[in-house]
Amino acid sequence: MHLKRLEVTGFKSFAAPLDIDFNEGITSIVGPNGSGKSNVADGIRWVLGEQSAKQLRGAKMEDVIFAGSDSRKRVNIAEVSLILDNEDEYMMSDFSEISLTRRLYRTGESEYFLNRKPCRRKDIVDLLVDSGLGKDAYSMIGQGEVDQILSSKPEDRRTIFEDAAGVLKYKSRKYESEKKLQETLDNLNRVQDILYELE
Ligand code: ATP
Repeated sequence: MHLKRLEVTGFKSFAAPLDIDFNEGITSIVGPNGSGKSNVADGIRWVLGEQSAKQLRGAKMEDVIFAGSDSRKRVNIAEVSLILDNEDEYMMSDFSEISLTRRLYRTGESEYFLNRKPCRRKDIVDLLVDSGLGKDAYSMIGQGEVDQILSSKPEDRRTIFEDAAGVLKYKSRKYESEKKLQETLDNLNRVQDILYELE
């Protein structure tokens, strides 16, 4: 599985539709200060389900919509699509190519599409979490996070590795199961008590 293409329109500094093709291996994005390199990363983060405007370097989510420039009027819709090559079936989907799309209107309305068909945000998040690609899965590492990973305590680092390896998902499911088991044991104890009283 690899990132094949990013299609951006009306997102941050990218007013006009822009397609960025990624080949296998390492891709570097270079350009002068303020040319939009980090906005490309923000676009990927956004389509992966980021809900925090701060993480996207804005004050509110509307800030991801192109706000206008000296030569161009502002737009009212931001849209980003991430196209993933899934020939190796790494992602739990029958499709050999998967496209994830997020759209935001200035009115605040959001839309999500999986393979160009409308879906819920949850459908995209679940697909990504099951593939270890979620927005918190360290498939994206921001500038500040490198220092954080290097300097954090061993226990914190372990959490980061578990998160990246997709172990946290199973830990939280284990926690839920243990809670249910405990509730069932409590119920059984209560039944025993009632039985004693009846005897
Ligand atoms: P640096 O090398 O300094 O880190 P960069 O190439 O990573 O810069 P970005 O931070 O991606 O650049 O882009 C910043 C530019 O994006 C700024 O000029 C900013 O005005 C523009 N920008 C961000 N959000 C919007 C928006 N909603 N509408 C229009 N332009 C925007």
